[in-house]
Amino acid sequence: MAQVNLLDFDASGLTDWCSAKGERPFRSRQLLRWIHRNGESDFGQMTDLAKSLRTMLEGAAIILPPPVVSDKTASDGTRKFLFDVGAGNAIETVMIPEAGRRTLCVSSQAGCALACTFCSTGRQGFNRNLSVSEIIGQLWSVSRLIRASDSGDDSMDHAITNVVMMGMGEPLTNYENLIPALRLMLDDNAYGLSRRRVTVSTSGIVPAMDRLSQECPVALAVSLHAPTDELRDRLVPINKKYPLAELMAACRRYLEFAPRDFVTFEYVMLAGVNDSLADARRLVELVSDVPCKFNLIPFNPFPDSGLTCSARDQIKRFADLLMKADIVTTTRKTRGDDIDAACGQLAGLVRDRSRRTEKATFTHPAFGRVSKTIPLEVKR
Ligand code: SAH
Ligand code: SF4
Repeated sequence: MAQVNLLDFDASGLTDWCSAKGERPFRSRQLLRWIHRNGESDFGQMTDLAKSLRTMLEGAAIILPPPVVSDKTASDGTRKFLFDVGAGNAIETVMIPEAGRRTLCVSSQAGCALACTFCSTGRQGFNRNLSVSEIIGQLWSVSRLIRASDSGDDSMDHAITNVVMMGMGEPLTNYENLIPALRLMLDDNAYGLSRRRVTVSTSGIVPAMDRLSQECPVALAVSLHAPTDELRDRLVPINKKYPLAELMAACRRYLEFAPRDFVTFEYVMLAGVNDSLADARRLVELVSDVPCKFNLIPFNPFPDSGLTCSARDQIKRFADLLMKADIVTTTRKTRGDDIDAACGQLAGLVRDRSRRTEKATFTHPAFGRVSKTIPLEVKR
Protein backbone atom coordinates (compact mmCIF):
# COMPACT_ATOMS: atom_id res chain seq x y z
CA MET A 1 0.00 0.00 0.00
CA ALA A 2 1.31 3.44 -0.90
CA GLN A 3 2.33 5.59 2.05
CA VAL A 4 0.33 8.73 2.70
CA ASN A 5 2.27 11.99 2.83
CA LEU A 6 1.10 13.67 6.02
CA LEU A 7 2.21 17.08 4.70
CA ASP A 8 -0.83 16.87 2.40
CA PHE A 9 -3.23 17.20 5.38
CA ASP A 10 -4.42 20.22 7.28
CA ALA A 11 -5.70 19.68 10.85
CA SER A 12 -9.11 18.37 9.84
CA GLY A 13 -7.68 16.13 7.12
CA LEU A 14 -5.23 14.66 9.60
CA THR A 15 -8.00 14.10 12.17
CA ASP A 16 -10.08 12.27 9.54
CA TRP A 17 -7.14 10.13 8.51
CA CYS A 18 -6.26 9.31 12.13
CA SER A 19 -9.84 8.45 13.00
CA ALA A 20 -10.03 6.12 10.00
CA LYS A 21 -7.05 4.39 11.63
CA GLY A 22 -8.89 4.19 14.96
CA GLU A 23 -6.97 7.06 16.64
CA ARG A 24 -8.64 9.74 18.74
CA PRO A 25 -8.55 13.45 17.79
CA PHE A 26 -6.03 14.46 20.47
CA ARG A 27 -3.53 12.06 18.87
CA SER A 28 -3.85 13.87 15.56
CA ARG A 29 -3.24 17.19 17.33
CA GLN A 30 -0.09 15.77 18.90
CA LEU A 31 1.01 14.50 15.52
CA LEU A 32 0.30 17.86 13.86
CA ARG A 33 2.47 19.58 16.46
CA TRP A 34 5.31 17.15 15.97
CA ILE A 35 5.24 17.65 12.24
CA HIS A 36 4.80 21.39 11.96
CA ARG A 37 5.81 22.93 15.28
CA ASN A 38 8.83 20.72 15.87
CA GLY A 39 9.62 20.04 12.24
CA GLU A 40 9.99 16.35 12.99
CA SER A 41 9.91 13.87 10.13
CA ASP A 42 10.96 10.74 12.02
CA PHE A 43 8.04 9.01 13.72
CA GLY A 44 10.52 7.22 16.01
CA GLN A 45 11.38 10.58 17.60
CA MET A 46 7.77 11.40 18.48
CA THR A 47 8.28 10.22 22.01
CA ASP A 48 4.89 10.98 23.53
CA LEU A 49 3.02 8.92 20.94
CA ALA A 50 2.18 5.34 21.88
CA LYS A 51 4.59 2.78 20.47
CA SER A 52 1.73 1.09 18.59
CA LEU A 53 0.82 4.38 16.91
CA ARG A 54 4.42 5.02 15.90
CA THR A 55 4.63 1.58 14.37
CA MET A 56 1.41 2.15 12.44
CA LEU A 57 2.71 5.52 11.20
CA GLU A 58 6.00 4.05 10.07
CA GLY A 59 4.12 1.61 7.88
CA ALA A 60 1.35 3.79 6.54
CA ALA A 61 2.69 7.33 6.39
CA ILE A 62 5.59 9.52 5.43
CA ILE A 63 6.51 13.19 5.93
CA LEU A 64 7.98 14.23 2.62
CA PRO A 65 8.54 17.80 1.38
CA PRO A 66 10.00 18.39 -2.08
CA PRO A 67 13.80 18.14 -1.85
CA VAL A 68 15.86 21.32 -1.66
CA VAL A 69 18.29 21.30 -4.57
CA SER A 70 19.82 24.73 -4.08
CA ASP A 71 20.11 27.13 -1.13
CA LYS A 72 21.85 30.46 -1.72
CA THR A 73 22.19 33.52 0.47
CA ALA A 74 22.62 36.98 -1.07
CA SER A 75 24.82 39.68 0.41
CA ASP A 76 21.75 41.40 1.90
CA GLY A 77 20.69 38.21 3.73
CA THR A 78 17.94 37.25 1.27
CA ARG A 79 18.01 33.49 0.92
CA LYS A 80 16.71 31.65 -2.12
CA PHE A 81 15.76 27.99 -2.14
CA LEU A 82 15.10 25.85 -5.16
CA PHE A 83 12.86 22.81 -4.64
CA ASP A 84 12.71 19.93 -7.05
CA VAL A 85 9.10 18.99 -7.77
CA GLY A 86 9.84 16.18 -10.15
CA ALA A 87 9.90 15.69 -13.93
CA GLY A 88 12.56 18.35 -14.35
CA ASN A 89 10.54 21.09 -12.67
CA ALA A 90 11.90 23.30 -9.93
CA ILE A 91 10.14 25.97 -7.90
CA GLU A 92 11.57 28.83 -5.93
CA THR A 93 11.04 30.11 -2.42
CA VAL A 94 12.63 33.27 -1.09
CA MET A 95 13.23 34.22 2.54
CA ILE A 96 13.56 37.94 3.14
CA PRO A 97 14.92 39.01 6.53
CA GLU A 98 13.95 42.44 7.80
CA ALA A 99 14.15 44.07 11.21
CA GLY A 100 12.12 41.90 13.56
CA ARG A 101 10.66 39.65 10.93
CA ARG A 102 11.35 37.03 8.32
CA THR A 103 9.05 36.87 5.33
CA LEU A 104 8.78 33.78 3.17
CA CYS A 105 7.70 34.19 -0.44
CA VAL A 106 6.02 30.90 -1.37
CA SER A 107 5.22 29.41 -4.80
CA SER A 108 1.84 27.88 -5.65
CA GLN A 109 2.38 26.44 -9.15
CA ALA A 110 5.16 25.23 -11.44
CA GLY A 111 4.91 27.97 -14.05
CA CYS A 112 1.77 30.04 -14.55
CA ALA A 113 -0.93 29.95 -17.19
CA LEU A 114 -1.85 33.63 -17.00
CA ALA A 115 1.01 34.91 -19.16
CA CYS A 116 1.42 38.46 -17.85
CA THR A 117 3.79 40.11 -20.29
CA PHE A 118 6.28 41.43 -17.68
CA CYS A 119 6.58 38.16 -15.71
CA SER A 120 9.22 35.54 -16.36
CA THR A 121 7.14 32.86 -14.64
CA GLY A 122 4.29 33.69 -17.00
CA ARG A 123 6.68 33.46 -19.94
CA GLN A 124 7.44 29.85 -19.07
CA GLY A 125 3.86 28.74 -19.48
CA PHE A 126 2.05 26.44 -17.11
CA ASN A 127 3.15 23.06 -15.96
CA ARG A 128 1.00 22.06 -13.02
CA ASN A 129 -0.49 22.98 -9.70
CA LEU A 130 1.58 22.27 -6.61
CA SER A 131 0.10 19.84 -4.10
CA VAL A 132 -0.58 20.84 -0.48
CA SER A 133 2.64 19.11 0.61
CA GLU A 134 4.61 20.99 -2.03
CA ILE A 135 3.18 24.34 -0.89
CA ILE A 136 3.43 23.81 2.87
CA GLY A 137 6.65 21.82 2.36
CA GLN A 138 8.36 25.10 1.40
CA LEU A 139 7.50 26.60 4.79
CA TRP A 140 8.21 23.35 6.63
CA SER A 141 11.66 22.94 5.07
CA VAL A 142 12.74 26.56 5.34
CA SER A 143 11.60 26.74 8.97
CA ARG A 144 13.68 23.66 9.70
CA LEU A 145 16.72 24.97 7.90
CA ILE A 146 16.50 28.31 9.69
CA ARG A 147 16.06 26.60 13.01
CA ALA A 148 19.17 24.60 12.32
CA SER A 149 21.17 27.76 11.66
CA ASP A 150 19.65 29.78 14.56
CA SER A 151 21.83 28.61 17.42
CA GLY A 152 20.07 28.01 20.70
CA ASP A 153 16.51 28.28 19.40
CA ASP A 154 15.02 24.87 18.84
CA SER A 155 11.47 26.00 18.22
CA MET A 156 9.91 26.44 14.80
CA ASP A 157 8.07 29.44 16.29
CA HIS A 158 9.19 32.73 14.84
CA ALA A 159 11.49 31.08 12.33
CA ILE A 160 9.21 32.59 9.70
CA THR A 161 6.96 35.43 10.86
CA ASN A 162 5.16 36.30 7.59
CA VAL A 163 4.17 34.42 4.45
CA VAL A 164 3.38 36.02 1.11
CA MET A 165 1.99 33.88 -1.71
CA MET A 166 4.02 35.86 -4.23
CA GLY A 167 6.34 33.22 -5.63
CA MET A 168 5.73 31.36 -8.86
CA GLY A 169 2.16 30.84 -9.98
CA GLU A 170 -1.30 32.23 -9.40
CA PRO A 171 -2.45 30.94 -6.00
CA LEU A 172 -6.15 31.46 -6.68
CA THR A 173 -6.11 29.14 -9.70
CA ASN A 174 -4.81 26.41 -7.37
CA TYR A 175 -7.51 27.08 -4.84
CA GLU A 176 -8.18 23.54 -3.59
CA ASN A 177 -4.57 23.00 -2.56
CA LEU A 178 -4.00 26.56 -1.41
CA ILE A 179 -6.69 26.47 1.29
CA PRO A 180 -5.34 23.54 3.37
CA ALA A 181 -1.85 25.07 3.12
CA LEU A 182 -3.16 28.45 4.35
CA ARG A 183 -5.05 26.72 7.17
CA LEU A 184 -1.83 25.06 8.33
CA MET A 185 -0.03 28.42 8.30
CA LEU A 186 -2.75 29.82 10.57
CA ASP A 187 -3.20 26.77 12.83
CA ASP A 188 -1.95 27.23 16.40
CA ASN A 189 -0.80 23.62 16.42
CA ALA A 190 1.20 24.22 13.25
CA TYR A 191 2.71 27.64 12.35
CA GLY A 192 0.28 29.86 14.29
CA LEU A 193 0.65 32.88 12.00
CA SER A 194 -2.03 35.54 12.32
CA ARG A 195 -4.26 36.17 9.31
CA ARG A 196 -2.71 39.59 8.95
CA ARG A 197 0.71 38.04 8.43
CA VAL A 198 -0.33 35.71 5.63
CA THR A 199 -0.91 37.45 2.29
CA VAL A 200 -2.37 36.00 -0.89
CA SER A 201 -1.32 37.90 -4.01
CA THR A 202 -3.60 37.54 -7.01
CA SER A 203 -3.82 38.89 -10.52
CA GLY A 204 -7.57 39.18 -9.88
CA ILE A 205 -9.47 35.87 -10.11
CA VAL A 206 -12.74 37.42 -8.97
CA PRO A 207 -14.84 34.33 -8.06
CA ALA A 208 -11.94 32.84 -6.09
CA MET A 209 -11.45 36.14 -4.22
CA ASP A 210 -15.08 35.86 -3.08
CA ARG A 211 -14.59 32.26 -1.98
CA LEU A 212 -11.40 33.13 -0.12
CA SER A 213 -13.19 35.92 1.76
CA GLN A 214 -15.65 33.33 3.08
CA GLU A 215 -13.45 30.28 3.55
CA CYS A 216 -10.09 31.61 4.67
CA PRO A 217 -9.82 35.41 4.76
CA VAL A 218 -6.18 36.46 4.93
CA ALA A 219 -4.47 39.68 3.87
CA LEU A 220 -4.97 40.42 0.18
CA ALA A 221 -2.63 41.87 -2.43
CA VAL A 222 -3.90 42.50 -5.95
CA SER A 223 -1.58 42.86 -8.92
CA LEU A 224 -3.08 45.91 -10.58
CA HIS A 225 -0.35 47.21 -12.90
CA ALA A 226 -2.59 49.41 -15.04
CA PRO A 227 -5.25 52.07 -14.53
CA THR A 228 -7.39 51.26 -17.59
CA ASP A 229 -8.86 48.09 -19.08
CA GLU A 230 -7.23 48.89 -22.40
CA LEU A 231 -3.72 48.73 -20.90
CA ARG A 232 -4.43 46.02 -18.33
CA ASP A 233 -5.82 43.73 -21.03
CA ARG A 234 -2.36 43.82 -22.57
CA LEU A 235 -0.26 43.49 -19.41
CA VAL A 236 -2.44 41.11 -17.38
CA PRO A 237 -4.50 39.14 -19.93
CA ILE A 238 -6.87 37.70 -17.27
CA ASN A 239 -8.26 41.26 -17.17
CA LYS A 240 -10.29 40.41 -20.27
CA LYS A 241 -12.23 37.93 -18.18
CA TYR A 242 -12.38 39.98 -14.96
CA PRO A 243 -12.11 43.64 -15.94
CA LEU A 244 -11.26 46.49 -13.58
CA ALA A 245 -14.79 47.45 -12.51
CA GLU A 246 -15.45 43.86 -11.44
CA LEU A 247 -12.06 43.62 -9.78
CA MET A 248 -12.60 46.80 -7.75
CA ALA A 249 -16.03 45.56 -6.66
CA ALA A 250 -14.49 42.24 -5.60
CA CYS A 251 -11.87 44.12 -3.54
CA ARG A 252 -14.59 46.05 -1.75
CA ARG A 253 -16.50 42.84 -1.00
CA TYR A 254 -13.33 41.16 0.23
CA LEU A 255 -12.61 43.97 2.66
CA GLU A 256 -15.81 43.25 4.55
CA PHE A 257 -14.24 39.99 5.71
CA ALA A 258 -10.51 40.71 5.53
CA PRO A 259 -8.24 40.77 8.58
CA ARG A 260 -6.83 44.11 7.41
CA ASP A 261 -8.85 47.16 6.46
CA PHE A 262 -7.06 47.76 3.17
CA VAL A 263 -6.05 45.94 0.01
CA THR A 264 -2.46 46.22 -1.17
CA PHE A 265 -2.25 47.06 -4.86
CA GLU A 266 0.97 45.91 -6.48
CA TYR A 267 2.05 47.98 -9.43
CA VAL A 268 5.10 47.07 -11.50
CA MET A 269 6.84 50.18 -12.86
CA LEU A 270 7.41 49.84 -16.61
CA ALA A 271 9.13 52.73 -18.38
CA GLY A 272 6.86 54.44 -20.88
CA VAL A 273 4.13 51.82 -20.46
CA ASN A 274 2.23 52.45 -17.22
CA ASP A 275 4.35 54.99 -15.34
CA SER A 276 3.14 58.42 -16.49
CA LEU A 277 1.68 60.92 -14.07
CA ALA A 278 -1.54 60.71 -16.06
CA ASP A 279 -1.57 56.98 -15.24
CA ALA A 280 -1.09 57.82 -11.56
CA ARG A 281 -4.00 60.29 -11.68
CA ARG A 282 -6.23 57.67 -13.32
CA LEU A 283 -5.24 55.20 -10.60
CA VAL A 284 -6.29 57.63 -7.89
CA GLU A 285 -9.66 57.85 -9.55
CA LEU A 286 -9.95 54.10 -10.10
CA VAL A 287 -9.34 53.20 -6.45
CA SER A 288 -11.22 56.13 -4.94
CA ASP A 289 -13.71 53.87 -3.16
CA VAL A 290 -11.37 51.01 -2.25
CA PRO A 291 -9.38 51.47 0.99
CA CYS A 292 -5.90 50.58 -0.21
CA LYS A 293 -2.15 50.95 -0.10
CA PHE A 294 0.13 50.86 -3.11
CA ASN A 295 3.33 48.92 -3.44
CA LEU A 296 5.30 50.08 -6.45
CA ILE A 297 7.59 47.33 -7.72
CA PRO A 298 10.57 48.34 -9.85
CA PHE A 299 10.37 46.05 -12.90
CA ASN A 300 12.93 43.29 -12.80
CA PRO A 301 14.17 42.94 -16.34
CA PHE A 302 14.81 39.59 -17.97
CA PRO A 303 16.17 38.89 -21.44
CA ASP A 304 13.74 39.33 -24.35
CA SER A 305 11.08 40.94 -22.18
CA GLY A 306 11.22 44.03 -24.38
CA LEU A 307 10.48 46.10 -21.26
CA THR A 308 12.56 48.31 -19.01
CA CYS A 309 12.15 49.59 -15.49
CA SER A 310 11.00 53.17 -14.92
CA ALA A 311 13.68 55.67 -13.93
CA ARG A 312 14.08 56.19 -10.22
CA ASP A 313 12.93 59.82 -10.47
CA GLN A 314 9.80 58.79 -12.31
CA ILE A 315 8.96 56.20 -9.67
CA LYS A 316 9.39 58.90 -7.04
CA ARG A 317 7.12 61.34 -8.89
CA PHE A 318 4.53 58.61 -9.38
CA ALA A 319 4.64 57.70 -5.67
CA ASP A 320 4.44 61.38 -4.65
CA LEU A 321 1.30 61.88 -6.70
CA LEU A 322 -0.39 58.88 -5.06
CA MET A 323 0.68 60.03 -1.62
CA LYS A 324 -0.65 63.54 -2.25
CA ALA A 325 -3.99 61.83 -2.83
CA ASP A 326 -3.62 60.30 0.66
CA ILE A 327 -2.78 56.81 -0.56
CA VAL A 328 -0.05 55.17 1.50
CA THR A 329 2.58 54.19 -1.08
CA THR A 330 5.76 52.22 -0.67
CA THR A 331 8.35 51.40 -3.29
CA ARG A 332 9.68 47.89 -3.00
CA LYS A 333 13.37 47.56 -2.38
CA THR A 334 15.04 45.22 -4.79
CA ARG A 335 16.38 42.36 -2.72
CA GLY A 336 18.68 39.48 -3.37
CA ASP A 337 19.95 40.90 -6.67
CA ASP A 338 23.15 38.93 -6.68
CA ILE A 339 21.30 35.59 -6.57
CA ASP A 340 18.39 36.46 -8.89
CA ALA A 341 15.98 36.27 -5.97
CA ALA A 342 14.22 39.51 -6.77
CA CYS A 343 10.57 39.64 -7.57
CA GLY A 344 9.70 38.46 -11.04
CA GLN A 345 12.92 36.49 -11.31
CA LEU A 346 11.28 33.49 -9.74
CA ALA A 347 11.54 31.42 -12.81
CA GLY A 348 12.94 28.15 -11.59
CA LEU A 349 13.03 25.54 -14.22
CA VAL A 350 9.74 24.43 -15.61
CA ARG A 351 8.87 22.12 -18.43
CA ASP A 352 6.15 23.82 -20.37
CA ARG A 353 3.51 21.26 -21.27
CA SER A 354 1.13 23.90 -22.57
CA ARG A 355 3.30 24.77 -25.55
CA ARG A 356 3.56 21.53 -27.40
CA THR A 357 6.33 22.60 -29.72
CA GLU A 358 8.62 23.49 -26.84
CA LYS A 359 7.78 20.42 -24.88
CA ALA A 360 11.28 19.37 -24.07
CA THR A 361 12.86 22.80 -23.82
CA PHE A 362 13.23 25.03 -20.84
CA THR A 363 12.21 28.51 -21.77
CA HIS A 364 13.63 30.48 -18.91
CA PRO A 365 16.51 32.58 -20.15
CA ALA A 366 18.56 31.85 -17.03
CA PHE A 367 18.21 28.13 -17.55
CA GLY A 368 21.83 27.72 -18.51
CA ARG A 369 22.90 29.08 -15.17
CA VAL A 370 20.36 27.21 -13.11
CA SER A 371 20.90 23.87 -14.75
CA LYS A 372 24.39 23.58 -13.36
CA THR A 373 23.01 23.24 -9.89
CA ILE A 374 20.01 21.02 -10.52
CA PRO A 375 20.02 17.48 -11.73
CA LEU A 376 17.08 17.19 -14.12
CA GLU A 377 15.87 13.94 -12.69
CA VAL A 378 16.29 13.69 -8.96
CA LYS A 379 15.56 10.23 -7.67
CA ARG A 380 13.22 10.21 -4.68
N1 SAH B 1 0.35 35.35 -9.55
C1 SAH B 1 0.26 36.22 -8.43
C2 SAH B 1 1.40 36.08 -7.45
C3 SAH B 1 2.79 35.85 -7.97
S1 SAH B 1 3.58 37.19 -8.79
C4 SAH B 1 0.15 37.65 -8.91
O1 SAH B 1 0.30 37.91 -10.08
O2 SAH B 1 -0.17 38.49 -8.07
C5 SAH B 1 4.05 38.27 -7.46
C6 SAH B 1 4.18 39.72 -7.88
O3 SAH B 1 5.35 39.92 -8.71
C7 SAH B 1 3.01 40.20 -8.70
O4 SAH B 1 2.56 41.48 -8.29
C8 SAH B 1 3.62 40.27 -10.08
O5 SAH B 1 2.90 41.12 -10.91
C9 SAH B 1 5.02 40.74 -9.79
N2 SAH B 1 5.97 40.55 -10.90
C10 SAH B 1 5.96 39.59 -11.82
N3 SAH B 1 6.99 39.74 -12.69
C11 SAH B 1 7.66 40.84 -12.28
C12 SAH B 1 8.84 41.50 -12.76
N4 SAH B 1 9.52 41.04 -13.81
N5 SAH B 1 9.26 42.59 -12.08
C13 SAH B 1 8.59 43.02 -11.01
N6 SAH B 1 7.49 42.43 -10.51
C14 SAH B 1 7.02 41.36 -11.14
FE1 SF4 C 1 1.14 34.41 -13.26
FE2 SF4 C 1 1.33 36.35 -11.39
FE3 SF4 C 1 3.26 36.02 -13.28
FE4 SF4 C 1 0.86 36.97 -13.98
S1 SF4 C 1 2.36 37.97 -12.58
S2 SF4 C 1 2.03 35.38 -15.06
S3 SF4 C 1 -0.47 35.82 -12.61
S4 SF4 C 1 2.73 34.58 -11.66
